[in-house]
Amino acid sequence: MKNLTSKTKSCWEAYASPRHRQAMQDLAGRYLDFLSRCKTERETIAYIRDRLLRAGFVQGGKGDKTLSSLHGKTLFAARRGRASLARGLRLICSHVDAPRLDLKQHPLQEQAAVGQAKTHYYGGIRKYQWLARPLALHGVIAREKGESFSFVLGEAPDEPVFSIADLLPHLAAAQAEQPLSKAFEAEKLNLILGHAPLPASGRAGAEQAREDPVKAHILSLLHRKYDVTEEDLYSAEIQAVPAGPARYVGLDSALIGGYGQDDRICAFISLEALLDAPRAAPAHSQCLMFWDKEEIGSEGSTGAKSRFFEYCVQDLLSAWEPETRFSSCMLASRALSADVHAALDPDWQDLHEKLNAAVLGRGPCFCKFTGSKGKYMANDAHPEYVGWLRGILNQKGIPWQMAELGKVDGGGGGTVAMHLAAYGLDIIDCGPAVLSMHSPFELASKADLYASTLAFKAFLQA
Ligand code: MN
Ligand code: MN
Repeated sequence: MKNLTSKTKSCWEAYASPRHRQAMQDLAGRYLDFLSRCKTERETIAYIRDRLLRAGFVQGGKGDKTLSSLHGKTLFAARRGRASLARGLRLICSHVDAPRLDLKQHPLQEQAAVGQAKTHYYGGIRKYQWLARPLALHGVIAREKGESFSFVLGEAPDEPVFSIADLLPHLAAAQAEQPLSKAFEAEKLNLILGHAPLPASGRAGAEQAREDPVKAHILSLLHRKYDVTEEDLYSAEIQAVPAGPARYVGLDSALIGGYGQDDRICAFISLEALLDAPRAAPAHSQCLMFWDKEEIGSEGSTGAKSRFFEYCVQDLLSAWEPETRFSSCMLASRALSADVHAALDPDWQDLHEKLNAAVLGRGPCFCKFTGSKGKYMANDAHPEYVGWLRGILNQKGIPWQMAELGKVDGGGGGTVAMHLAAYGLDIIDCGPAVLSMHSPFELASKADLYASTLAFKAFLQA
């Protein structure tokens, strides 16, 4: 008799064979390397661009494999299919920005014999998670004449790191009485950059050294290393991010721990899914879109609310198929808003509604709608589209699950799905579940990484 109940499947069981486990391990190794190296949107886009170029994609090309990027922070890639663009694209979009601490434009100050950089947090952070831990600086500094350079400090084992001091428990009695929202102040998230005063000999900034000798020393070190002055920091984007590489977690190394997995895990697996394609042209044209600024509402010229995606598709149409209208292509397109989902937290299960919560290791998670309260600010995927998608995954035996973020009225969040849905295309949120989302050390399942890659591949080729 036909089984009438529905149960999620474990990816560990579905992919127990040595062949699958080896492929899972290889993928996890590449992912760990990617996660360790790509900690800003620019570093991530540079990595993606580099792999696409090596696979034969051409920047601004009119050929069958093309890519475009803007400000090094957003990127569109397309591979031509056999079918007309009027039959739509297979599109996967993800975001490459992650919560972090940005240095303010006037960052440098000195107080109590310590040189600090003032920060302004980006995205939804829990401020206490950024205290008393090694941080690295990843940045871009633009000079007056327009040329810019990027730098990383604090990742190599022989380089110093940076840190924000936390209050000692002995003096935390008053703080401990405060609600969490008040206990940690953004203006106290000051990153320690140095402590030693400018040496007396060879004082370039002798005047300043009398007032702020540590700050003068920091400026002289920056000048020696990068030939920059304090004013150059106004035209800079410098991010403080967790220092050090991503790691396997657990005795079985079954989890991956690292910074920025929301949403770089989806950026990575969509790239893997596109590049691991058969040589023959696919049925439908395949596109990947990588966005910036999702964590702050998809604003700006490189976020999902910008017109960049539209310009790129218009370019595709004029290069490949000028007779096809933009609207016909969009209305026939099918998309995944590839983003991570909140995994059922073993210690906070009461905040989830367990029947509709994502579980680690049960495969990519479809989220029919995001938003909050009465589904405000949500794309709500059409049932026909959900039916089509589960058919694709079931046919390949890929475990998947269906979930909501948490209890109704318990909170919520948005993704880029609604911005693309505005074009009339079919779209749904889909991605692996993670624990400790938005923390400096997010956790994802190696099995979900593997199953999600297979799922994205099946979607692109369906
Ligand atoms: Mn996300
Ligand atoms: Mn997020």
